Amino acid sequence: MSEASETIFSKIVRREIPADIVYEDDLAIAFRDINAQAPVHILVIPKKPIPKLADAQPEDQALLGHLLLVVQRVAAQEGLTQGYRTVINTGEDGGQTVYHLHLHILGGRFMAWPPG
Ligand code: AMP
Repeated sequence: MSEASETIFSKIVRREIPADIVYEDDLAIAFRDINAQAPVHILVIPKKPIPKLADAQPEDQALLGHLLLVVQRVAAQEGLTQGYRTVINTGEDGGQTVYHLHLHILGGRFMAWPPG
């Protein structure tokens, strides 16, 4: 998959394609994964199109912290009181398929370890 910064997620941010959006603020948006791997599977993304975690810069420090707090907030909103898993796939070996930074929230069932 290409690493062009314009991805389907930018189109979701701009409301050019539909998504089941569960949270939004000035910096981030969260929506349900179209191919859910758990009863709750939500993606939290920055509106800024950082392709992958490895591309984040020192000036993105506050944004990266904000994304984790959005994860916490969305997980609470979804009622994930038993816990949840947060995943960031990075690059080819990380299994990343969409090159717009995103944090997966997976919950509603027990998550095995190690992952595949
Ligand atoms: P990753 O493999 O970490 O890059 O994850 C990309 C995720 O985006 C996958 O879990 C896909 O199911 C999900 N995805 C791709 N297109 C869409 C879409 N249009 N709406 C919601 N989720 C999507």
